[in-house]
Amino acid sequence: MVFQDKDLTCRDCSKTFVFSGGEQEFFSAKGLVNEPKRCPNCRILMRVQRSGEDPNRTAEVACAECGSPTRVPFQPKGYRPVYCSYCFRTKKLEGQGGKEAAELEHSADEEQKLAAG
Ligand SMILES: [Zn+2]
Ligand SMILES: [Zn+2]
Repeated sequence: MVFQDKDLTCRDCSKTFVFSGGEQEFFSAKGLVNEPKRCPNCRILMRVQRSGEDPNRTAEVACAECGSPTRVPFQPKGYRPVYCSYCFRTKKLEGQGGKEAAELEHSADEEQKLAAG
């Protein structure tokens, strides 16, 4: 199956964001059938708010790989690069993994639950 980039509209900020082929593949591999309702930025904000954390703790930074703005649920310390969710996942597929990768998967699961409920 070939996945093609798709433009979706975020229901929170009404901005258009790309649901990339890579992300669709990821969703499909996880058995997730619903498309994301929110842009990655709002997804992170929503997660932080739902977990009762302070949204001010999040920071918007430029992805070290593609340069697109991305929101992360922490204040980057500057000693390691920050990637947008897509580049992060790509890096993970290249063999790097870790805690953040697991969190991303968790995020996708949570998004799916919200979409279902
Ligand atoms: Zn949004
Ligand atoms: Zn990127």
